[in-house]
Amino acid sequence: MRDIKDLTLEELRQVLQGWKQAGFHARQIFSWIYKKGIQDFSQMSDLPADLRRRLQENFFILDFRLARVFQSGDGTEKSLFALKDKSFIEAVIIPAEKRLTGCVSTQVGCRFNCRFCASGLGGFKRNLTTGEILGEVLYLKNNLGHKRLSHIVFMGVGEPLDNYNNLLKAIRIINSGYSFNIAARRITISTCGIIPGIKRLADEGLQIELSVSLHASDDKTRSALMLVNRKYPLKDLIAACSEYIKKTNRQITFEYVLIKNANSDLQSARNLSTILKDLNLSKVNLIPCNTVRELKVGPPDKPQVLLFRDYLLKSGVKVTLRKPRGQDIEAACGQLRLRYEKK
Ligand code: SF4
Repeated sequence: MRDIKDLTLEELRQVLQGWKQAGFHARQIFSWIYKKGIQDFSQMSDLPADLRRRLQENFFILDFRLARVFQSGDGTEKSLFALKDKSFIEAVIIPAEKRLTGCVSTQVGCRFNCRFCASGLGGFKRNLTTGEILGEVLYLKNNLGHKRLSHIVFMGVGEPLDNYNNLLKAIRIINSGYSFNIAARRITISTCGIIPGIKRLADEGLQIELSVSLHASDDKTRSALMLVNRKYPLKDLIAACSEYIKKTNRQITFEYVLIKNANSDLQSARNLSTILKDLNLSKVNLIPCNTVRELKVGPPDKPQVLLFRDYLLKSGVKVTLRKPRGQDIEAACGQLRLRYEKK
C-alpha cells in the first residue's frame, strides 16, 4: 500500500491512465482529499465504483494517529502525531489576529543538534515523506478543525532543506489550486543555514518566504550554538543569502533567538548590524529563548532584550521582537516529542 499523498496531480494522472481510467479523475481525487477532507476512497461518490475499489486496494490517505493535543493559555496548540513506525512528530497551530499558522515538521529528529533546541537531542531518525508532511497539514486542517489555516511554516522538528526533494514536492502540492491552494507567499521555509539548499531554492522560481536562523553574529559563538556553522560559516552563509536576494528579489528574515549569557550582549548586536548592513531586503526577528530544561538554556531578562533590539533599530536594521509562544506547553520545536518518547 502506498501513500496517495506522495503523488503529484500529474503522477496520479499517470497511475490512472495505467489503469485505463480517465485522467480527470485525478483532480476529483485531489479535491476529495485536500479540499473536502475525505479520508475514505469509498466516499468519493463521483468516481466509478471500480476506480474506488482499485484505489482502496493500492493506496491509503492518512495512516498516522493523533497521540495528544496540548493547548496553551496564549492560544497556541501543539499536536503530537504517532507515525506507523512508532516515531513521533509535532505540529503547532499559532493563531494571530488575521492569520492561522501551521508550524509543520519535516524530519523525525534532526542531525544538526543546535544547542538551544530539543529536536536534535534524540538524534536524527529519518526524513518525513512528502505524504507525511502533507498529512500534518491535512490533519491540522480537517481533523483538528482548523479550516481557516492560512499560513504554513516549516519550522517544526527537523531541518527542512536537509529533506529538500520531499519538502519541495509537498510545497508544490500545498500551493496547488487543486489541493490546499495556500499561496506561496504564505509558506515559509526556515533553515539553520544549509548553503547548497539556499542556492537550489533561489532557482526554483517560487515566491515563498525564506527565513534563516542566525542566532549569533560571530563564528565562534555561532559554532558553539549551532554545529552547522562549522560546515557553513557566517561569511559564506551571508554571501549565499545576498545571492538569493539578488536572484529572487525576495526578502529574507533572519531569526535570532536571544539566549541568556550566550548571544544577547551589546557586542553581539553590534556584530549583527555589521554583517547585515549590505543585505537589502532583510529583517531580523528577535525571539527570547524558550526555557528548555534538558539543555539548561533560557531567555535574557527583559531590559537586556530591549537594549539589544534598540541597538539594532538605531543602526537601521529592520527588527521585530516576537513573543515566545506556547511556553506552557513546551512549544519550542522538539520539546514535546522528546518528553513523550522518553516515557
Ligand atoms: S534549530 Fe532546527 S536545525 Fe537546529 S537542531 Fe533544532 S530543528 Fe535542527
